[in-house]
Amino acid sequence: MTRLPFLTSRLQGFGTTIFAEMSALAARTGALNLGQGFPDTDGPTAVSEAAIAAIRAGVNQYPPGPGIEDLRVAVAEHQARFWNLSFDPASEILVTAGATEALAATLLALCESGDEVVVFDPTYDSYAAGVALAGGRMRGVLLRPEEATTPGAHTRFVFDPDELRRAFNPKTRLLLLNTPHNPTGKVFTTEELELIAELCQEHDVLAVTDEVYEHLVFDGHAHQPLATFPGMAERTLTVSSGGKTFSFTGWKIGWVCGPAPLVAAVRTAKQFLTFVNGAPFQPAIAVGLRLADEYFATFASDLQAKRDLLGSFLTEAGFEVLSPEGTYFATVDIRSVGAADTVDFCLSLPERAGVVAVPSSVFYQDPRDGRHLARFCFAKKDTVLTDAGHRLLAAFG
Ligand code: PMP
Ligand code: GLN
Repeated sequence: MTRLPFLTSRLQGFGTTIFAEMSALAARTGALNLGQGFPDTDGPTAVSEAAIAAIRAGVNQYPPGPGIEDLRVAVAEHQARFWNLSFDPASEILVTAGATEALAATLLALCESGDEVVVFDPTYDSYAAGVALAGGRMRGVLLRPEEATTPGAHTRFVFDPDELRRAFNPKTRLLLLNTPHNPTGKVFTTEELELIAELCQEHDVLAVTDEVYEHLVFDGHAHQPLATFPGMAERTLTVSSGGKTFSFTGWKIGWVCGPAPLVAAVRTAKQFLTFVNGAPFQPAIAVGLRLADEYFATFASDLQAKRDLLGSFLTEAGFEVLSPEGTYFATVDIRSVGAADTVDFCLSLPERAGVVAVPSSVFYQDPRDGRHLARFCFAKKDTVLTDAGHRLLAAFG
């Protein structure tokens, strides 16, 4: 990796995010972009109309630092409705510029330099940068694909419980958990979450959970916030955002919920990052959070059908598909089509098939661990997925 002049040593090596790079590649080559994770259709009209109405009504100046009250109340109602978690909107909920800022502010607020943050490897790309900005160190616990034992069952990503136990040490400050997990699509099980909860308590470690895909869970798997496990509500900050759930990724309205003293610490850091953002989008996301249960159920079943549509093309084209239990990403093992290095594979895919995917190696602490994996986003129109499917079939099938 080339050294960038002027850039502080904390950020050397981070370069341009893979998502910007792959979206630029799609634009340059005219390939179908199944790389960066964003939907190609707008979310519910009730939500976008609420934003338009707010702009027209003059909701255009700085909102209050913690976020507008109506949105904090709507987040509290949502957490109670779906997860049976109770938060005081006045002191236990903070609105942020997307989940990204919630995570960055949390890391900056809670990590002393030299502190360790336990993560499951691979991680979403902002984690490594966020930990580096905070002067911390990531301690990765590898998620490995486990072969299905029964025919027809799909491969799951699993971790070695002993490796997780060994990751905790006196320097551990935080455990940062993403479930449903990007990029693998793993939904952490009750047993796994119980072990995580036990270790956080045994080592007096705080937990931060990234739950942006909380409503994108398939096949009867269930999302369970870590904060719902005994002893965890008092030591967990739960992060989410409206980007994925309501298909408005460009609005960047997120939130963090947790005990008042932890939220106060995060608010202190957050004030000096963006102070506030998205005044007219905040009441609109409140409308989204109050949509009927049916909206959330249909959203998940629609995405599950899209997963299956793209998955069947990928399988037919000869890829081994590691079918996700949640999120809107499918992972393939490129060795099944005779490829060895995912960066080479993804860079040549636009020319070879007219499709863009993301090399999963970039999400790993040691890129060699993901060298044979590529990630496809299926939050796209059925026509686009079908077109991409035919292109992949023509190139590989
Ligand atoms: N965490 C994960 C796991 C993600 O995939 C994303 C991308 N949506 C984010 C955080 C960032 O969310 P936001 O766009 O709300 O900042
Ligand atoms: N979360 C999206 C993904 O994983 C991308 C968001 C971004 O571009 N930063 O593809």
